[in-house]
Amino acid sequence: MFDALAERIQSTLEKFGRKGRIDKETLEKGLREIKLALLEADVNYKVVSNFISDIREKALGAEVVKGVNPAQQLVKIVHDELVEALGGEEAKLNLKNKPAVILLIGLQGSGKTTTAAKLANFLKKQGKKVLLTSADVYRPAAMLQLKKLGEKIGVPVFLEENEKDAVKISKDALKKTRDENYDVLIIDTAGRLHIDEELLEEARRIREETNPDEVLFVIDAMTGQEAVNIAKAFNDAVGMTGIILTKMDSDSRGGVALSVKGVTGKPIKFAGTGEKIEDFEQFYPDRVASRILG
Ligand code: GDP
Repeated sequence: MFDALAERIQSTLEKFGRKGRIDKETLEKGLREIKLALLEADVNYKVVSNFISDIREKALGAEVVKGVNPAQQLVKIVHDELVEALGGEEAKLNLKNKPAVILLIGLQGSGKTTTAAKLANFLKKQGKKVLLTSADVYRPAAMLQLKKLGEKIGVPVFLEENEKDAVKISKDALKKTRDENYDVLIIDTAGRLHIDEELLEEARRIREETNPDEVLFVIDAMTGQEAVNIAKAFNDAVGMTGIILTKMDSDSRGGVALSVKGVTGKPIKFAGTGEKIEDFEQFYPDRVASRILG
């Protein structure tokens, strides 16, 4: 599965012979390769450092496995730790209330609006009666985009196109959700290209007023090193209950997953895998771990 990395580590360790046990010197050589592989996969360097320290401890205490060479053994340890660090099992949505509210937050371009429609479609297929709304009062195009997507998937979209108060729109949408007996309300919020205090504050107020079951932070898998700062800013200012990683169909190896999970401690619940509505699935830590290792 992760043969490329195993081979790479193997060739580094070759001159140490095919000893059954991972000794300290061999381990450091192997860890160097793993560190590079993780950095190449775009995992944040601080997250990588912490991860490597954990692996060092695990590997030193690891038992010798018969018939497995040190490189394979090390990669297995790394893979298992990576799966664990990515959340272990897949994390499900936690919708307790009726109606349940899902708030989507994230930067502009992260794929938030597309994800709102994908999630609505996902829940609709489970038989839920879903309402979508856009609290993006800054970009009329964003409201229009959601309206079109809603029409495409047959999910109603509540809009107040001339309203400039994002909190009011969210509250009005929630009232409609209750009055008309919907199961779930999905609120798409405004995003900007960079972290913006005003916008974080607006999202925080929407959260306060609508008391969502889930606050899902949407982030593009191609974000790179910056992902940690963005995730931390949203988590500190607004808070989040989970993460949706978009554009997993890109060339990115998905190291951002480890970075954002590492810095927020919140589970990654879904992955966007393309531009189409159906390109959306539950996040599987083991699959992504294999991909990160290359
Ligand atoms: P927003 O500004 O965060 O609301 O982002 P949008 O939903 O408008 O998405 C920005 C761009 O990313 C659009 O061109 C989407 O089609 C595209 N996009 C969103 N999710 C994915 C994904 O999972 N894979 C790919 N390839 N493109 C995506």
